[in-house]
Amino acid sequence: MSDGDSIDNSSQEKLQSDKPLPRSKKRRFTPIKIANQIPKKRRMEIEKALEDQESTPKKWTRNSGPKNHNFLRKRITPGTIRHLECELLDVEIGESWPIPVSIIHGHRPGPTVTLIGAVHGDELVGPLSLTYLLGNNFLGEDKAIDPNSLAGTIRIIPITNLPGYRRRSRYFPDGRDLNRYFPGNPESNTTSRVAKTIWSQIISGSDYIVDLHTAGKGRTNIPQIRANLAHPSTNKIARAFGIETILDSKGPRGSLRRVSNENDIAAIAFEGGGPDEADPESVQIAIFGILNLLRSLRMIPGYPSKPRFRILASGSVWIRSNQSGLIDVLTPAGSFVEKDEIVASITDPEVPGENHDVKTPITGLLISTATHPFVHAGSPIGHLLPVTRGISTLKTRLDEEGCLIISGSDGDPPWRDDDEIEDISVIGEWSGGNPDAEWGTENKESEEET
Ligand SMILES: [Zn+2]
Repeated sequence: MSDGDSIDNSSQEKLQSDKPLPRSKKRRFTPIKIANQIPKKRRMEIEKALEDQESTPKKWTRNSGPKNHNFLRKRITPGTIRHLECELLDVEIGESWPIPVSIIHGHRPGPTVTLIGAVHGDELVGPLSLTYLLGNNFLGEDKAIDPNSLAGTIRIIPITNLPGYRRRSRYFPDGRDLNRYFPGNPESNTTSRVAKTIWSQIISGSDYIVDLHTAGKGRTNIPQIRANLAHPSTNKIARAFGIETILDSKGPRGSLRRVSNENDIAAIAFEGGGPDEADPESVQIAIFGILNLLRSLRMIPGYPSKPRFRILASGSVWIRSNQSGLIDVLTPAGSFVEKDEIVASITDPEVPGENHDVKTPITGLLISTATHPFVHAGSPIGHLLPVTRGISTLKTRLDEEGCLIISGSDGDPPWRDDDEIEDISVIGEWSGGNPDAEWGTENKESEEET
């Protein structure tokens, strides 16, 4: 936990705690609203987490002078940028997979934020947005991230799964999914050893993690945040990202964000677009969100942008095919669809002239759709957040096609106070335990999200 995690007065009332909160928990900046956004059971878990949280001593203070940042046995002086390499495997001969790591060490003290891309090697939105952030448009004197005015440290790892990236594969060469093996084991399989290196060299010592992903093969996601909202500092940065859709879940076992939370490191996953593509909107929104987050943490100057509303979802509904054949998705991911609206059409090349419509069972926001046309009866076609409240608010941000205009995709939104943001709760469960469990895949190890 870092300094700056705070609870606002309304949450304090909701906690119904007899004893007053310690001084350090009083409002500093971004308040955490926990009321009426998600189901009662989950809300109580979140409230309990906030209650149980002990006051942790500050690891850094704005009053102390600039200090060196020690990383990978290098000493990085305040106000500088260093581009280093971290070897994923500890070997004397053969391939060690050195991955690029850039450290921006601010002139002023502050938290350490780690931005990580391509944990899955075929997911390119992370590598692209992080490479842009390290470019001349965003980094340098008088730019959004200026080491001379930065408070704290930013670690940027654009490509984590380097061998997978080179082979255009989600997996490591041993066929394993890195995002199921944290915190890793130096005596175990290849992927587990890599996980251990990343965990001990890059993740530990971080206060906040942003893990950038896309949907898996055969589907696409609208830009969204996934976060365990019962972890207070994670809850804070999930909101600070400044986009509309937040899915509340702990993350799969062994995933970076889940294991980070278990070690009291705040961690969110951003998802946008699909694999093997450079979805420009997702890249733009990822950059927008990261800058928002850094502003919220007061690491860089400027006010964070806030969305008109947030959809805080604890569950979803699946749209499935009842036929086998080839689908044509008529409503793209991001569409707001009304009950019984036709969302896809299915044909069979062996039965020309016939087609079957797929209708949405419920009104809601389509957050993910299939991109591969091949389906069987029962195949998921779309993933829907069943929105029942706040529909009129949501409709104020739909484009001509009925798609959600996501903050960051159409320039900076106007300044908003926290109490101007409407929280739209989506109540339910994640079928299979995780947001992506129903998609399935040819590889059993990645049946769950991100
Ligand atoms: Zn992923």
